[in-house]
Amino acid sequence: MPLIVTAVAFFILCYTAVYYGTTEQTVRVSINGQVMGVVAEQTEAEAMVRVALRHYSAEYGFPVLSKDEVSYESLRIRIEDRTPLTQENVTAAITPYVNGYALAIGEQVLFKVASEEILDDVLQTYVDHYVQPGASKVVESAEIQDSFAKLAMELHPQEVAPKDEALNRLLLGGGEVSRHTVQAGESLWIIARKNDMTVEDILKSNDGLTEDSMIHPGQELYLNEERPFLTVVATGVSVQEEVIPYTVVTKEDNTVTPGSSVIRQAGVTGVKNVTYSFVEKNGRTVEKEVIEENIVSEPVDQIVARGPAAIAVSVAASRGSGNVTGIGWPLSGNITSYFGGGRRHTGIDIDGVTGQPFYAAGTGTVSSAGWMGSYGYCILVDHGDGVTTRYAHASQLLVKAGDKVTKGQNIGLVGSTGRSTGSHLHFEIIINGNAVNPLNYL
Ligand SMILES: [Zn+2]
Repeated sequence: MPLIVTAVAFFILCYTAVYYGTTEQTVRVSINGQVMGVVAEQTEAEAMVRVALRHYSAEYGFPVLSKDEVSYESLRIRIEDRTPLTQENVTAAITPYVNGYALAIGEQVLFKVASEEILDDVLQTYVDHYVQPGASKVVESAEIQDSFAKLAMELHPQEVAPKDEALNRLLLGGGEVSRHTVQAGESLWIIARKNDMTVEDILKSNDGLTEDSMIHPGQELYLNEERPFLTVVATGVSVQEEVIPYTVVTKEDNTVTPGSSVIRQAGVTGVKNVTYSFVEKNGRTVEKEVIEENIVSEPVDQIVARGPAAIAVSVAASRGSGNVTGIGWPLSGNITSYFGGGRRHTGIDIDGVTGQPFYAAGTGTVSSAGWMGSYGYCILVDHGDGVTTRYAHASQLLVKAGDKVTKGQNIGLVGSTGRSTGSHLHFEIIINGNAVNPLNYL
């Protein structure tokens, strides 16, 4: 009997020694219910999960999270059956996500970004794109006028747009993409002008095209029209140095050759600092009001001695034929946009540089001179007989309402004020209230 007991005890002892010699205490790791492998300590597996998240954060450029279910089970297994957990398998099993934000207008989601902070940054950059304060321009308020929603949502990192892409989505907005076939004689600049765009706008929409690219007739270009989804309204105060036009005083003088004039005293323009309050929508001035004017220097009258029997009005219109004579070019330069066309252009655009003088197209009286909304600084000259000419987008006006002007007199300086995409003179001839094609009269 004692022998048997001893034998059994010996057997158990041997079995135990073999068992512990061929098996190992491990932690079995499962991710989302699937067994991935074993590790000696749970902390090893936890470290691998952290490495996987760091890997994805580095890949996408923002911190990511995981909701994957990682479970641990302690057990002894036979050493030969052991499958060690690898970093590669852990990384592959983890699905990263981010607590992102989407911008929505009505039902439409415009873009998704990785955080509320980035979304706010995109919106602020968008506002700054349109609102540019300067030394003589103080912006008092700038905000987005339209309503939009910031939606918190869990996103896969691949759904997340980089900041630049999100910003472009806002800027291009609901604009349409159209194609333009290049015509003979067109340059990028002329195409931009004809379509109320800038050369930069065209370059952005045509990969590989640069400002120096040669374009040829028949070539197709994309014209992406910017029509932003959100309107940035800015208000503030600006100060501008402006010219005060001189008055032309004409005196009859029998000593001067009949029909001609002599300048006795040259006029000198004055200078004033004008303070305006303004309202801008997406960078375009929609309201402008004078708050204060400070005269820096007074203008000096131009005194003209006119001989007897001066020739009368040089512009005349026959209502029947619409015939106008005596209208001359207000500015010499390339025509960058013709009358009529798809956008019902009411005049012609003549290329010029800011500060270049332009001239009265005929003799007449200034019926208005000042800010006229989308025309910017603008002059209307009444030539009598129902004929009026318009000069728009000026940088400075050298005449005021009521002034008499002669054909060829410098009445203003070329600019790009109002709704304009570059320095040019917009010139109209209006007969009995209707804009006509100036090229039929020049
Ligand atoms: Zn125009």
